[in-house]
Amino acid sequence: MEQHIQPVVAELTEEQSSEPPSTMRAVQSPSSCPTENETPLCKKLSQWNDWRWQIRNRIRSLDQLAQYVPSLSARHELQKVIEKYPMAITPYYASVIQRADMSDPVFRMSVPNIQEVFDPPCLTDDPLEEHQDMPVPGLVHRYRDRALLIATTMCSMYCRHCTRKRIAGTRETAISARRMRQVQEYLFNHPEITDVIISGGDPLTMSDSAIEAMLSTLRSVPSVQVIRIGTRVPVVLPMRITDELVNMLKKYHPLWINTHFNHPQELTEEARAACAKLADAGIPLGNQTVLLRGVNDDPQVIERLCRGLIRTRVRPYYIYQCDLVRGVEHFRTSVRKGIEIMEYLRGRVSGIAIPTFVVDAPHGGGKIPVLPTYVVSMSPTHTVLRNYEGLLVSYPEPGVDSEPAAGSAKAEPGVWELASGKADVILPAHTQRMNRREKIGARRSSAVQAEATGYLFDA
Ligand SMILES: *Cc1c(COP(=O)(O)O)cnc(C)c1O
Ligand code: SF4
Repeated sequence: MEQHIQPVVAELTEEQSSEPPSTMRAVQSPSSCPTENETPLCKKLSQWNDWRWQIRNRIRSLDQLAQYVPSLSARHELQKVIEKYPMAITPYYASVIQRADMSDPVFRMSVPNIQEVFDPPCLTDDPLEEHQDMPVPGLVHRYRDRALLIATTMCSMYCRHCTRKRIAGTRETAISARRMRQVQEYLFNHPEITDVIISGGDPLTMSDSAIEAMLSTLRSVPSVQVIRIGTRVPVVLPMRITDELVNMLKKYHPLWINTHFNHPQELTEEARAACAKLADAGIPLGNQTVLLRGVNDDPQVIERLCRGLIRTRVRPYYIYQCDLVRGVEHFRTSVRKGIEIMEYLRGRVSGIAIPTFVVDAPHGGGKIPVLPTYVVSMSPTHTVLRNYEGLLVSYPEPGVDSEPAAGSAKAEPGVWELASGKADVILPAHTQRMNRREKIGARRSSAVQAEATGYLFDA
């Protein structure tokens, strides 16, 4: 199976003889490109680190795909899928595939599936009703102080789970100068908009000069304080993050970038280097993950992803419930799966590694955070909360001057006792934390003894 993706990988091992990236090393075969840079294939592949070469050489047809996946079946049906929802996979992203089948998360996110034509009635092309929130074509104004600009319909890789399947890749075109002037005028007339998100499609597939023109247009509006870019380029086309691009971007601070890693397998050396370049330019990085069945609907996978992200200086920002988009039914998970994942993360993983789980509401309701329930009960005087361990604790509201309950339980405390101030905590038995406290307590009492007998400061 690994050999299916060799044509794109072979070159890496020849070209970057100094230090081939580890993900590539996993799929390298010593016999695949025998005479260094001699064969036409190897010559062509030597441009691997040129992002434009990557874009020109994307896998776009089933014939091309079949070179990597010889066992490709249902071609007639797949052809219909890609006519409706185009396919594009950068050679780089293809090289991140480890198994050429749907059990591989990267394969699953990039290779079309006949289930995309499955069309249950609850799914629509534009479930967030973005189209109805566009005062100017391309500009979604939903929240009072923020607007989202659809700058291009092009991406280097078309995610099979894309929430803008209706737009992404149907044509590959960027916003026109005339439309951009309309956007500028709208922003001038709406100074309440202080934060503009450049999205698409993937805005970083545009040329440096096109991106710069857009940024300087936005910066010409004094009320625009923050500019954000939403891009999957660090994940699917990391060589796009060139020094020239980064030096240009940093002229437009405060500029934030949100990227879109969904699985720890995507955190390759190249992807991490791309993020490092952006972070070094002072660009705060966030990540938006979509919960996808068979890709990352697993607490441990999300844990590995989030830990990997903070090591990469990328702050997990949102984890999205899959939108009700036509063509993505096979990726959908239940809302309770997201709640389970959040329950798992809290208390187990650093707070900076925990994203907010949101459901982007149908009918344009915007993002709604969803959490496990931590408020257990409330009374006029106390709020009863639980923590991740199952500890139940009473928080007295201000102005309550009744006697505080001393220590934990007196007689059989229950939630009512906590809510009425008759008890202040119910502790779970034998947690690691409590065991540690017992040890600290034991050490402390022997230390007190030592001090009393004058031994504490003796060598
Ligand atoms: C997600 C989104 C935003 C930004 O929301 P934040 O919560 O500020 O990240 C703005 N506008 C639209 C239309 C969006 O979908
Ligand atoms: S990069 Fe974003 S816009 Fe492009 S296909 Fe993927 S999810 Fe859609």
